[in-house]
Amino acid sequence: MSLADEKRTSWNIHKTAHFKVFFKSIDDLRVFNSKVICRKNVVKGNTISDVVKNKLDLIFEEVEKILGMHNPRFGKTSFKIFSDKKSLDRECLRKRPKQEPMIAWYEPGEDSVYCQVGDVSVGMVAHEIAHSIVDKYLMVPPPRETAEILARYVDREITKGI
Ligand SMILES: [Zn+2]
Repeated sequence: MSLADEKRTSWNIHKTAHFKVFFKSIDDLRVFNSKVICRKNVVKGNTISDVVKNKLDLIFEEVEKILGMHNPRFGKTSFKIFSDKKSLDRECLRKRPKQEPMIAWYEPGEDSVYCQVGDVSVGMVAHEIAHSIVDKYLMVPPPRETAEILARYVDREITKGI
């Protein structure tokens, strides 16, 4: 897809209890759903977008539980699912020009998770959601190193719970 084509394909936005989910196509949601696997819970929904929405909320609530960080006033995190590595890398270059491209990241200023369908897993999704929760829960955001320790702990633990 050329840059011009990509710009013409606008984002679809679906709201869930905890997220604003941005995605380009239902096919992307299908791939996302097949890669983000919850073994212990059957995630229900009438459509693929309902299943993905319910799955993201389930993961969010499990991450809250692991961290012991609950706050009913958390705003909705933007969760941006790109279609491929090329478009995510381009976005990464725009947001963080000094860094190497990343497979996924959390953007604290805008409370957004960035990822692409080719590279997702339940651990990775939980990891980025952990960054969002830690950032919103603590009045003073922890040092980057501490946040990373917490997020890594969550991505190891998540599969035990869901
Ligand atoms: Zn991290």
